[in-house]
Amino acid sequence: MSSSNTKSKGQIKVVHIYPREMSIYGDLGNTRCLASRLRWHGYEPLVHQHHPGNDFPTDAHLVLGGGGQDSGQARVEDDLAHNADVLRALAAGGTPMLMICGMYQLFGNAFITVEGERLPGMGILDVTTQGNAKRMVGPVVLQTAYGDVIGYENHSGSTQLAPGQQPFGTVKSGMGNNGTDKTEGAVTGNVFGSYLHGPVLPANPSFADALIKLAVEHALGEPFVSGRIDDEIADQARTRQVRRLAG
Ligand code: GLN
Repeated sequence: MSSSNTKSKGQIKVVHIYPREMSIYGDLGNTRCLASRLRWHGYEPLVHQHHPGNDFPTDAHLVLGGGGQDSGQARVEDDLAHNADVLRALAAGGTPMLMICGMYQLFGNAFITVEGERLPGMGILDVTTQGNAKRMVGPVVLQTAYGDVIGYENHSGSTQLAPGQQPFGTVKSGMGNNGTDKTEGAVTGNVFGSYLHGPVLPANPSFADALIKLAVEHALGEPFVSGRIDDEIADQARTRQVRRLAG
């Protein structure tokens, strides 16, 4: 790991959207993971928390959102509508984003709760989610472009990808988007949606570094130069979990 007195390779602004309303099951750990890994790679993370009632920062380099209760999702709806154009422009321009569970649903076209309330989404990901009485809960193993990814899901929403919408991964163990088509999450450009808590990034360092690489190259316009990070424990834990559930 690089020492703190080496010169920073550049600043990366990490924005966590709605950490109060939408950050259950440890999803704040994704932000902490990225801030630490950026530092260990020699970059300087600037972490900004976006709360409802504020203008979303247009200079965000990496945007993270977490899961929440249906009630938390309802509480952020007005702010999301207010900031939708900025978020859509950032997404279209290539700013990497990772949205977990409840925020994944709101980055889609709509989430219809189990009571039938329709929460409109921003349509950045071409997915639609319907709440169900039966929840999908448990550990998950996915096959993804970043190797096997492990995590934990807990959602009532059943998500359908529109034709042509790419998933984040293929389910090897667990339920994923809907428990039937083996898809999990969605990816459009550099925007990733997934149901995986855990939090997912500390458990899957190669996916965390893929987001960092996208952010660095997009923000600084130069190649990502990695530092040396000891991921032995995370790698062992993931290998063991993959073998246990999908071996
Ligand atoms: N309320 C949503 C659902 O149950 C999101 C849950 C979550 O974010 N963990 O589908």
